[in-house]
Amino acid sequence: LSRGKTFKVEGLVFGVIGHSQKANLGQLLAKNSPFFQKGDLLSLDEPKAYSGHKTKAFVKIQEGCDFQCSYCIIPSVRGKARSHKEIDLLNQVRILIDEGFSEVVLTGTNIGSYGKDTKTSLGNLLEKIGSIKGLRRVRLGSIEPVQIDEKVLEILNESWIERHLHLALQHTSPKMLRLMRRRNRVEKDLELFETLSSRGFALGTDFITGHPGESEYIWKEAWGWITRFPLTHLHGFTYSKRDGTPSAKMNSIVPGNIAKKRLKELEALVLEKNIAFRHTQKDKSLEVLIEESDGKNAFGYDQFYNPVRIYGRIERHSWVNLTKYAIKEKYNEAII
Ligand code: SF4
Repeated sequence: LSRGKTFKVEGLVFGVIGHSQKANLGQLLAKNSPFFQKGDLLSLDEPKAYSGHKTKAFVKIQEGCDFQCSYCIIPSVRGKARSHKEIDLLNQVRILIDEGFSEVVLTGTNIGSYGKDTKTSLGNLLEKIGSIKGLRRVRLGSIEPVQIDEKVLEILNESWIERHLHLALQHTSPKMLRLMRRRNRVEKDLELFETLSSRGFALGTDFITGHPGESEYIWKEAWGWITRFPLTHLHGFTYSKRDGTPSAKMNSIVPGNIAKKRLKELEALVLEKNIAFRHTQKDKSLEVLIEESDGKNAFGYDQFYNPVRIYGRIERHSWVNLTKYAIKEKYNEAII
């Protein structure tokens, strides 16, 4: 929306709408005159589950974010954190199970803040979801490290929670975390990652390279920390300026080629760590939910959120337990 206004004034776009206005798009276009409708930033859609691959279903549990990371436009376009009613979400999950889904992914803008406005918590919600019969695996969307409380830590012992978590670090230099106005602190983050790793979790993260101020010294400091993290997955990004954010006004811009080079180094490091992790888990069987199958070959993800290719006849939607498989660079492979 921040850029949308400029684009509209400059005549570069026909219309701009906020998230809550998307249902009115048809009407707005029918009027045939340019529009700028930011809508209600505090609106909450009806909770609605959807299935990306028709094998696992996505359930949006909340909307918005109360954090104020300096580079992020989301709080100003998605509004404050607000949660869907627990009863509606539990009903959604029951319906999905009745429809044949056995894996559910909980999503939202900032899922760790679930329940803050409704006097409950993510831990409480998970506990109730876990008691629904027929649900085999629950995957959590990205969570902020500071939102993993005692209750969530306890629930993570449950076998129906995927053995993979995505915790958003965004950076590992203490100075950069402060500059980015992040709430997480690297020493605590490392402690948390080590605790979860010792419980057998594969751990992913988001990381931004090239944020303003990421000098060579800061990058080296961050690298010294990140090499110590038991990471297995990475959503890496190079910094992208968002007008209207504090970061957009910062100096000490990092050239794009340097940001890309750092991202590549990071990707190579995490890939290496992922392969090492898979070797340490070799004595465990892989529980794979088949998402794609053409009758001869199949594809799915295991409990560590690693892709698995299977040569053999397996139905989509089915679960397979693999005890024998080969570890390839970017996936596991089995013949059955
Ligand atoms: S980066 Fe995530 S936690 Fe930070 S403001 Fe944006 S949505 Fe919120």
